[in-house]
Amino acid sequence: MTANSYQDPLDSAFGDEQKVPAREPAYLSGLNKEQREAVEATEGPVLVLAGAGTGKTRVLTTRLAHILATHKAWPGQILAVTFTNKAAREMKERIGTLIGGVVEGMQWLGTFHSIGARMLRRHAELAGLKSNFTIIDADDQLRLMKQIVEAENIDEKRWPSRTLAAMIDGWKNRGLRPEDVPDGEAHGFAFGKGRTLYKLYQARLKALNAADFGDLLLDTLSLLRGHPDILADYRDRFRYILVDEYQDTNVVQYLWLKLLAGTGGNVCVVGDDDQSIYAWRGAEVENILRFERDFPGAKVIRLERNYRSTPSILGAASGLIAANKGRLGKTLWTEGEPGEKIKVQGVWDAEEEARHVASDAEALHREGHSFAQMAILVRASFQMREFEDRFIALGLPYRVIGGPRFYERAEIRDAMAYLRLVAQGDDDLAFERIVNKPKRGIGDASVQALHQFARARQVPLLAAAREIVETDELPPKAKKALAELAANFARWGDTSRVLPHTELAEMILDESGYTDMLKADKSADAPGRLDNLKELVRSMEQFESLAAFLEHVALVMELEQNETGDRLNLMTMHAAKGLEYDTVFLPGWEEGLFPSQRTMDENGLAGLEEERRLAYVGITRAKQRALISFAANRRVHGSWQSALPSRFITELPEEHVETTVDEGFYGGNAGFRDNMSGFASSYDSPGWKRAQANKERGYTRARPPLIEAQAFTVQTSDPSATQYARGDRVFHQKFGYGRVKAVEGNKLTVDFDKAGEKKVIDTFVTRA
Ligand code: ATP
Ligand code: MG
Repeated sequence: MTANSYQDPLDSAFGDEQKVPAREPAYLSGLNKEQREAVEATEGPVLVLAGAGTGKTRVLTTRLAHILATHKAWPGQILAVTFTNKAAREMKERIGTLIGGVVEGMQWLGTFHSIGARMLRRHAELAGLKSNFTIIDADDQLRLMKQIVEAENIDEKRWPSRTLAAMIDGWKNRGLRPEDVPDGEAHGFAFGKGRTLYKLYQARLKALNAADFGDLLLDTLSLLRGHPDILADYRDRFRYILVDEYQDTNVVQYLWLKLLAGTGGNVCVVGDDDQSIYAWRGAEVENILRFERDFPGAKVIRLERNYRSTPSILGAASGLIAANKGRLGKTLWTEGEPGEKIKVQGVWDAEEEARHVASDAEALHREGHSFAQMAILVRASFQMREFEDRFIALGLPYRVIGGPRFYERAEIRDAMAYLRLVAQGDDDLAFERIVNKPKRGIGDASVQALHQFARARQVPLLAAAREIVETDELPPKAKKALAELAANFARWGDTSRVLPHTELAEMILDESGYTDMLKADKSADAPGRLDNLKELVRSMEQFESLAAFLEHVALVMELEQNETGDRLNLMTMHAAKGLEYDTVFLPGWEEGLFPSQRTMDENGLAGLEEERRLAYVGITRAKQRALISFAANRRVHGSWQSALPSRFITELPEEHVETTVDEGFYGGNAGFRDNMSGFASSYDSPGWKRAQANKERGYTRARPPLIEAQAFTVQTSDPSATQYARGDRVFHQKFGYGRVKAVEGNKLTVDFDKAGEKKVIDTFVTRA
């Protein structure tokens, strides 16, 4: 392919080393025996199966450096898969420091999705796309799905497009194209229309010159399967394949990899079955377990020494994960002093929890610990708001990693829609988004007329707009506005070829009237949105072209702002995979929240075990200290609910744990003591004392009611609240129709027609 003209930057950097072959490269000397073995076994299949913090990622990075340093391959001949784009960047930097100099040309280092996108762009026509296809996100995906469901005259209320989207994603994750979907499953939506809708959706995507995230993998798989010459080309190109976090690959990723690697390829995967936490997205831990069968003669290397955490942290995490049945089991040890015990803190509610975490973080900071080395890991993203509020109130610097994403804000998405449409005039989704934003008098009826016009002529909306304004199909006002918009896009398109893309973006925001709209907006958040748009333009500076920027936004949904500086890190536990911090706060360890009731209802024991692996991932992010907390009261969907401490807390080995419960916290609640026999502190003072104390301290926010008698006996909500009774017919998005067999609080036992008997929460069903 294109490798011929490549100049090896390592030649200069390594010229000296090469002349002294006896000297061991510095990058190897820090490794233990097994790690070194994994680095040096470059030929043939290798599996590194090892627990958290044992250096798997380090091995992978060093192996990459080793391959380059020993000239076994050029950077462009290595396929390296990381779990996030951030991890890819870090790996690149790390290789640079290991072998000196900048490593250029690692085009195939990235996530499955970014690598898939790169491949698909090179062969877009073969997948029915143009190479400048748009990558759409979940939001656009849903809008498209909705249109299709409505066009097919399917009752959206009964068959929500969200469900269809989840089904299609699931099929894509399993490598199934419409024609591959098993009959039984295809019938699961809208009386057998599942497959047809999937097909229509795909056709619509192609017509829009767009791909969703699933397509980035499925289309590339089809490409390799359908074109032996292309497959041969890539097999030849990729001399070495490396994959991090292999336990979380899904079927389509697995099939794609296997195809590229062949049976005897130089493929090295690293992972930990105890850290498989993406089953809900189609990940199959079996992939790692069957590696040896798929790649006969594979070398299996186990790493047992943990370099990350203190013995206390490792002991606590190992004790917890031991409760899982389905696991391979591994030995893990670490050196050094036991270190601080895991702190478990009981608090009144989420507000107080945030206050605790913030003051602990400040105290540590005063002792000289940096904020950047502290992370708050939550189970559900709604938990973040309370922390953000607190940090803002105190002026504590923080960043959200992978969280409420900058690029997902409405004004950013609007601006992006303008830019996408300039780059790619077929992008109907973008067109629809901004056609009347800001309001320019193009109403729904006019948009519908435009749609019909476009369909009849089989042209994209923007092209149709240009034509329709020559007719009398639209009312004069709409016609004028649309003509102006189309003319603007034509001009912006021309300008984009000469003006730097940042200036183009500013121009578009001004000329479209978008900036003025926000300036005229008197609502409190309008100034913030203007700031966000400025931030957007700033963030474009790092990219050489508009296309490069759009690609980045489509793929890198990680928050780019506030990346630098000494800040607290806030993220979900899922987003924390592979990362490490000196101090880790783990709030919200309550039954129902963590482990998540929903996961348990839907997947039973398997769901619970996945939640426990998530807890294991959370704790093992900590190097020095881990602080777990749970609140007695939590506001869920607007109503106060009392909660029990998570069972995971009781599963932590007592010797590694130190528990504190706030004074006045547990109003003599016996149930709690029975459940939490390991707890040492006093929780005898009545709850009202706590409220009293709060009042004295001036906390005025409305507090949850003190229900002494009921506290901790109710798991997630008021038992009298359920509206269902035995015998009711209900519908559940996942399980379909069924009849209520028993009611226990807000938990229903339902005998589903197809799925059999399941326990579900009442809020997840509707009356049928
Ligand atoms: P996870 O399962 O969480 O992804 P991992 O197995 O990938 O963990 P790494 O992140 O590679 O582990 O390593 C954990 C920490 O241990 C890192 O800070 C790494 O630099 C350090 N480490 C790994 N190997 C060694 C070693 N031989 N000597 C010193 N430190 C090491
Ligand atoms: Mg790792």
